[in-house]
Amino acid sequence: MTDTLVFYSGPDPFETWRDALAPHLDDDVRIENADAVTDPDTVRFALVWMPPEGFFDRFPNLELVINLGAGVDRLVARGDLPDVPITRLSDPEMGKMMAGFVLFATLRHAREIPHFEAAQARREWAYRHPRAASEISVAVLGLGELGGLAATEVARQGFDTHGWATRPRDLAGVTVHCGDDALENLLGQADIVVSMLPLTPNTRRRLDGAAFAAMKPGAAFINASRGEVVDEDALVAALQSGHLSGATLDVFETEPLAPDHPLWTLPGVLITPHLASVALPKSAAPQIAANIKAVQSGGALINQVSRLHGY
Ligand code: NDP
Repeated sequence: MTDTLVFYSGPDPFETWRDALAPHLDDDVRIENADAVTDPDTVRFALVWMPPEGFFDRFPNLELVINLGAGVDRLVARGDLPDVPITRLSDPEMGKMMAGFVLFATLRHAREIPHFEAAQARREWAYRHPRAASEISVAVLGLGELGGLAATEVARQGFDTHGWATRPRDLAGVTVHCGDDALENLLGQADIVVSMLPLTPNTRRRLDGAAFAAMKPGAAFINASRGEVVDEDALVAALQSGHLSGATLDVFETEPLAPDHPLWTLPGVLITPHLASVALPKSAAPQIAANIKAVQSGGALINQVSRLHGY
């Protein structure tokens, strides 16, 4: 009997994923796009990124849901999620792409690029002497698979790099601080604060008005994790008052960011449309195929996530 793997994603192209996955799967697995499923009863596996509400109800025989990305917060929060194992992608290439984005954003603020862009718009030669990386303190909040790699990449450039997590971690060049009590001090000494926190009940709006007030005057803020870990009104206020000098923001409470949102036009703010890191078909295909085979043969899954906490 043939099993079906159903694919759904807004941003990711079906054909590219199908072609990357096919060589890793046996002939008894058919890969179909969600809008072209021939027999919903044969669907045992779903590879999905933010499918529409009610999506899973169409497939009564699902046995595995694979999140087409690293962050599972939106998936585990759904009401229609079937009671089957959930896995996420854990791909070193995603980590590299994220680390590259965080490094770019860190350098953007460390090298005062927003100042030079504003000066260029005025045709002004506005020299500012660069500071050495070792004199600039960067705090990376969240040291998971992506955050940990991002922090070590920042440290590799010579920045005075600090990290925040719930448990101690050994990361080259990174001073790790743990627990709620450590956050305020950490925010107070960083020139650049980077959010790499997952969205969980404990991190929702964790970066609120008090957190932004605790940051150094003139600090910059980078968010490449989830918009909902930030109180966006408090962020806007901190930027409007000049307490924060700028921000690089890839994620937002509501995406797409509304055209009339104040963040679009605040000085020193760069907006990118949630693309700091994406799942890469060729490098992710083997782990997806391995999990499908594990379900078929009753073997152990890799990168399984908790439905309750998302990790
Ligand atoms: P992980 O789940 O692997 O890592 C979570 C990290 O955050 C751990 O270090 C954990 O610490 C720490 N953490 C969690 N809760 C707390 C807390 N309450 N206080 C302090 N530390 C906490 O996440 P990833 O590294 O895989 O992903 C990071 C973020 O990037 C996620 O939000 C994800 O959704 C997002 N993402 C964004 C993308 C984009 O394109 N913008 C693409 C892919 C992912 P500990 O382990 O000690 O508990």
